[in-house]
Amino acid sequence: MTVSVRIPGCLTCAAHLMKEMSTCGIGQNRVLPEAQENNVKKLLPRPLSRVNGWSPPLHSFQAISWTTYLAMSIVTFGIFIPFLPTSWKYAANAVSFVLVMGGVFMFHLVVHLIAITIDPADTNVRLKKDYLEPVPTFDRSKHAHVIQNQYCHLCEVTVSKKAKHCSSCNKCVSGFDHHCKWLNNCVGKRNYWFFFFSVASAAFGLLGVLIILLYIFIQYFVNPNGLRMDPLYKEISSENTWLLFLSLSPVPVKTPVVLSIAAMVLLLAIASFVLLGHLLVFHFYLISKKLSTFDYMMQTRFQKSPRPAEKKELPPRKKGNVSQVRLSPLRVMFMERLRPMCGGKE
Ligand SMILES: [Zn+2]
Ligand SMILES: [Zn+2]
Repeated sequence: MTVSVRIPGCLTCAAHLMKEMSTCGIGQNRVLPEAQENNVKKLLPRPLSRVNGWSPPLHSFQAISWTTYLAMSIVTFGIFIPFLPTSWKYAANAVSFVLVMGGVFMFHLVVHLIAITIDPADTNVRLKKDYLEPVPTFDRSKHAHVIQNQYCHLCEVTVSKKAKHCSSCNKCVSGFDHHCKWLNNCVGKRNYWFFFFSVASAAFGLLGVLIILLYIFIQYFVNPNGLRMDPLYKEISSENTWLLFLSLSPVPVKTPVVLSIAAMVLLLAIASFVLLGHLLVFHFYLISKKLSTFDYMMQTRFQKSPRPAEKKELPPRKKGNVSQVRLSPLRVMFMERLRPMCGGKE
């Protein structure tokens, strides 16, 4: 079953999205609000262009993502994986699983770091623009748009056709997809696949964590001794005592502690997996339609805007008539979820 996005959904979100897009000037080759012509703005120091996700200001979402990654790594490899069976019959499967999990976590770390570190700016911006020079203030009385005839009045260079000027990064990004707060960097042509595989590997890793936790919970209620296969448990008489960080420095704790940690991690893993899973499926959809997130937002805006004047501003679509495009409720949900998570201005 499909529905048009014009069917009333979350009106608050829709109104917010339209307002944000309007202020961001989407459709005019920029995602930057022009400098406000008031004295307060003119007194503020002009911003510098950011190079990548490590450039200031750092974003709180970065801290959340790295803390989650670190916590998941510690509890998965330090606490939960040692509960897996070590008998010869299942050891090979467990070792293979651990190796795959370790590979996925490492792969995620590498692609995540690359996605943050790459400067996604347009080629001419990277080659000709001085990042130490403040970005000029946009003067709407002189120019109608930030980018005109592929010349950016803020970066002061000629940019490629699909470049957009990002207000968070203060520069033009080639093949602009969206500005990701989790990476604190723009996602564009240069780092899109690193971003994509970062999301995919995170979702895959979380799936592995969920499988391990499921096994632990089932074993605990069906056969608790199946979780106490390590030789160190032979020295522990109480069945109410468990060992954390077994392979490094065993820490004995009581059952409620292990169960509380497992339950908290399970909830965090489920929430993260649902969000990342949605994002991953959404990007599979975009890739299949040869659309960027920006294109998709534009199409959604087009569907929501009945004004003919706004329709003229839309970029050429890949195929089909956008007014005929119908979106499933799931895709509408993706769009609403994506905006606060990974797109637009703060
Ligand atoms: Zn620019
Ligand atoms: Zn950006």
